[in-house]
Amino acid sequence: MPRLVLKFGGTSVANVERIKNAARHVKREWDAGKNCAVVVSAMSGKTNELIAWCKEAAGRYDAREYDAVVASGEQVTAGLMAMALQDMGLPARSWQGWQVPIYASDAHGAARILDVDGRNIEAGFAANREIAIVTGFQGLHKESGRIATLGRGGSDTSAVALAAGLDAERCDTYTDVDGVYTTDPRVVPKARRLERVSFEEMLEMASLGSKVLQVRSVEIAMVHRMPTYVRSSFDDPANPRPGTLICDEDEIVRDQPMESQVITGIAFSRDDAQITLRQVADKPGVAASVFVPLAEANINVDMIVQNISEDGAFTDITFTVPSADYERATALLERARGEIGFRALQGARDVAKISAIGVGMRSHSGVAARAFKALSEKGINILAITTSEIKFSVLIDSAYTELAVRTLHTLYGLDKDD
Ligand code: ASP
Ligand code: MG
Repeated sequence: MPRLVLKFGGTSVANVERIKNAARHVKREWDAGKNCAVVVSAMSGKTNELIAWCKEAAGRYDAREYDAVVASGEQVTAGLMAMALQDMGLPARSWQGWQVPIYASDAHGAARILDVDGRNIEAGFAANREIAIVTGFQGLHKESGRIATLGRGGSDTSAVALAAGLDAERCDTYTDVDGVYTTDPRVVPKARRLERVSFEEMLEMASLGSKVLQVRSVEIAMVHRMPTYVRSSFDDPANPRPGTLICDEDEIVRDQPMESQVITGIAFSRDDAQITLRQVADKPGVAASVFVPLAEANINVDMIVQNISEDGAFTDITFTVPSADYERATALLERARGEIGFRALQGARDVAKISAIGVGMRSHSGVAARAFKALSEKGINILAITTSEIKFSVLIDSAYTELAVRTLHTLYGLDKDD
């Protein structure tokens, strides 16, 4: 019998009425002959409330106790969902991460899933097609026996990892939007829902600012080639719309010739800050003296631009870091100034990163050049550029974010025709 994992996000389980509606989606799949495991988030707002309580309780809290507190939101939803399903006459029970068990690392607050043991849930499938309701966002650190949470949005990752662990045919992620769009429809009303997106493209989109799925969930889906749907829980459970399927590139080429669409989506993020070091020595070891300390401080550096110096003596280095780490990064670099040897440190937080993503870029040239021209025609100055096989990103003044996103969306033929 085929197995399916269904995941419901916070807004889809925001109150008991919505939990009952989510349960109807589960019933539809169960009635259709699937063995179902359901992963739930905390009711929307709950995790924020729990985090606020932790901060109120102690200025410097114990990360293990923080996890004990914030993991509780999912426990409530899982129990309620099991009750709702039982009330519909279906066999169902809740499972907390440690009961499954889902094993995780001990990086409390940002743990990684190490392994999912699906045997207990499979025994329920075999006995009476029991539906397993599993708390998202949490796992068990085996050695210490403590609960570890996976970081904000971590239920997506729980769901895909469980689907892989159970050898499910698919993971359906139900949320408050009806799929993955070519860009954020709030910024570009002409954004279109995509029927299908490849794992690689989705990974770039999630990393570059699309908030639909947690990045790590897409990584796991890609590694396990686990087809994953993003679809709306607000649809009529008897008659749901298709949503967006995240799948292998080959399955997309078949019904959509690659030529028609070079770019699949435009992502943007205002969460980056830019740092420029002026006049650093142009000699071996300088880049390491800048970036090794940042890495050791767990500061994620993204774009890096360095020029070849004219005189062979000095050059400038520009790079971006998450806005939240800007202060830490600049303080750290100022402390290391003697060692690195730069003339000045300049930074800006009012920058935005706009990215265009598409596997079609592999086989087409001049894709990014068209964007540079279109942006210049709108008077938008580009501060930095990076490219990879299936995407390019430009860093611009954040005041131009919307204009830049709309310009590229139109340029690459992504606007829906109405
Ligand atoms: N409840 C957690 C959060 O709000 C995990 C999740 O919903 O995915 O981040
Ligand atoms: Mg989410």
